[in-house]
Amino acid sequence: MAGINLGTRLRKLFAGEKFSEIFFDDLEDLLIEGDLGAKFVNEIINQLKSEMKTHKVKSESDFIVVLRNYLSENILTYNYMPEQENTNLVLILGVNGVGKTTSIAKLAVYFKNEYGMESVLSAGDTFRAAAIDQLIYHGDKLGMRVVHQQHGADPGAVIYDTIDSALAKGDKMIIADTAGRMHNRDNLVKELQKIDKIISNKISENRYKKFLVIDANTGQNGLRQAESFNDAVSLDGIILAKYDSSSKGGTVISISRNLKVPVLFLGTGEGYSDLVKFDKDIFLDNLLGL
Ligand code: GDP
Repeated sequence: MAGINLGTRLRKLFAGEKFSEIFFDDLEDLLIEGDLGAKFVNEIINQLKSEMKTHKVKSESDFIVVLRNYLSENILTYNYMPEQENTNLVLILGVNGVGKTTSIAKLAVYFKNEYGMESVLSAGDTFRAAAIDQLIYHGDKLGMRVVHQQHGADPGAVIYDTIDSALAKGDKMIIADTAGRMHNRDNLVKELQKIDKIISNKISENRYKKFLVIDANTGQNGLRQAESFNDAVSLDGIILAKYDSSSKGGTVISISRNLKVPVLFLGTGEGYSDLVKFDKDIFLDNLLGL
């Protein structure tokens, strides 16, 4: 991973005067730079200080254990499992450029490898002509069906048609793209809510999931993105893309903690197989350089 990670910086901090006020000030800066968000970092620092008072934290390793546990308690995750006998739909949300289209293709490969399920891709981002072309390109490469209409078409209609054809043909997995930007934010929210309603009328709640793609490099802006999308249509999970090109990833902890949205997958490169299930322990070990 690029950059100096939190773990390396923590160790540097321990080389100085441990557990002094300066130590905690520096720790605070470091955690904020790690994208954990000011409010949460404040809580972490207070928690660590109080554990020190009760003498639970005496050494560097005690300290790391307490910090790690505290972070761990604040990350939600679950193992997403589609129902293999029925038609499932995963709606992919996110602002442009975060890695949405690539994540759709990677998820399709993941569902095939993990569950032997072929996916139908639904080109619901009709706002950008390039998004439709990109999805068709991935569908061709992967040998998967892509349901699309022309640039500017009603995305709700595209997704509606995809569901109808999937139900008729017996396809078990639909992965639908959505626009990441429109003329204004209100339009985008209204459109997403309309799409959400259309899907909810056709696919039952346990087989319909909404995943938001976040770019690991976006920092605290990622939390604001997640808040907007979660307000519009409540999210079921986060895919953290470009994790390989970032030394951070702390944003997903603050998203998970603040919005109670679980983290499900990490994008670890540009290839189709570069998607891994989120593993909280491995993630935290990497974050803290353990
Ligand atoms: P979209 O606009 O959100 O659909 O974004 P794209 O899927 O087109 O991705 C934007 C760029 O990010 C492309 O160059 C992708 O190859 C790249 N990308 C996507 N996911 C990852 C990832 O997990 N790691 C890396 N290194 N690059 C990624």
